Amino acid sequence: MEQVEKFVIEFFKNLKCAISRDGNILVVENVPKSFEDLFGKESPYHLSLDSNTKGIFIGKGSSLLAAMTKFLEGVGKTTLLKIDFDCDAEVEISKVISLKNCEISNLEKKHKNSFFSRFTFMTTFRYLNESEQVVNEVYVHNGEVVDGDLTGYTVVEGDSNLSSGKHVEVDYKVARNFLKNVLVDKTSSISETLGNKVDIEIERIGKHYDNLLGELGGDLAGTLEKIKKLELDLRMADELERDILRTKLERLRKGLVKVGDDEARDRILKEQEFTIKDAMHKHSLNIDNKLVNTTVIYYPVFNFNLFLKGNRNSGRYVEMSYDPLMKSLNEVNCEGCGVKINSLNLCGSGHICCENCLRKCGECGGQFCVKCLTRSCSVCGKALCKDCSKMCLECGKNVCVDHMRTDCVSGDERCVSCLRACMRCHGLSSAKYFGEALDGSKVCQKCLGAEKRGKVMDRVFRDD
Ligand SMILES: [Zn+2]
Ligand SMILES: [Zn+2]
Ligand SMILES: [Zn+2]
Ligand SMILES: [Zn+2]
Ligand SMILES: [Zn+2]
Ligand SMILES: [Zn+2]
Repeated sequence: MEQVEKFVIEFFKNLKCAISRDGNILVVENVPKSFEDLFGKESPYHLSLDSNTKGIFIGKGSSLLAAMTKFLEGVGKTTLLKIDFDCDAEVEISKVISLKNCEISNLEKKHKNSFFSRFTFMTTFRYLNESEQVVNEVYVHNGEVVDGDLTGYTVVEGDSNLSSGKHVEVDYKVARNFLKNVLVDKTSSISETLGNKVDIEIERIGKHYDNLLGELGGDLAGTLEKIKKLELDLRMADELERDILRTKLERLRKGLVKVGDDEARDRILKEQEFTIKDAMHKHSLNIDNKLVNTTVIYYPVFNFNLFLKGNRNSGRYVEMSYDPLMKSLNEVNCEGCGVKINSLNLCGSGHICCENCLRKCGECGGQFCVKCLTRSCSVCGKALCKDCSKMCLECGKNVCVDHMRTDCVSGDERCVSCLRACMRCHGLSSAKYFGEALDGSKVCQKCLGAEKRGKVMDRVFRDD
């Protein structure tokens, strides 16, 4: 295998990627996003040492080698990436809100950057003779861990002039805590296996040292039994046998003394303790978390400043913000009832309102929100906008233009409820302007005046 190939395989192995071979092509899958972003290509990678075959060339001077070097150099360091977004404000708005009785007459698009951090951790579990590695990537945005999926987004190298230091520290703590939780299951499952194994080992050690202690002391009961038997035998034995029996007895008695030899016993117990400690140490789990890479990613969050123009010259400035990564436009709420708006209506006074809160003036037909259309004609009941409602100065009530009349005596505008009809001239006038005519009927002052003038004329003519 060539040196370069070895290096490449080792590199991706360390990143816990799946590596397989397809003829002369090396297939690398499950590449951490932090490397993909840096390299600018999504995995799987089909790698080849031959620049003439299909696949990514990995020879000297290749872009992959350059990216790998860069990644290794940047290990633990912070890299800055920018997600390039552009959006069509009107399209995004129309996806969420339909404009009912108004249109956008002016739109200004601005943006500010929103930052989030990605931490790539490599965790190594070391136990017995094994070492197992896991790579985890944790995304943190606004102090919260978020689902990171940058698939399909164009990522470019960011502008390092943009400061980003402070929130990374905070985000890092969040990511560390999150990682701990992620590793809990794995840690406890390994610990359990190790615990079982060490239990078996300790039992084995215990048995071994019990045997040693047993050998040291010999079979006490058995020895006593034997001594008893020898003493009996000695009594019965003839002179010739006695010497042999005496020697045997002597040896057994010495053995009994040896049981009480504390020094030897202590030595064995100490050795056992040491062996158990050693076994426990061998079965301990060592976890090492290494921060392989920190990436600060930023992207623009858009601000749309729009001017909505309704019919009848009503208008309104509205500010909306759009997060292209979350694909979320901020909520617009009805200024009448507060619900989130899907269909936006503009009230004649410039309020934003929902379908339910939109009313029509019974007089001019203009559209207004519930807050603006509070008046109604006290005579016919139709809803009236501010411009269409007239107030009667007699009773103080609002009426529509149809139910407002001119007092034929005073010339004042009064509602029909405050006026009565004169049976003589059929004009309308306030009750206080009525009086009794000569024939006893109630007529307006105008008619009374006419009657009076008629009489004076009569008299004038008669006087002549
Ligand atoms: Zn509403
Ligand atoms: Zn009106
Ligand atoms: Zn309104
Ligand atoms: Zn009316
Ligand atoms: Zn009135
Ligand atoms: Zn009259």
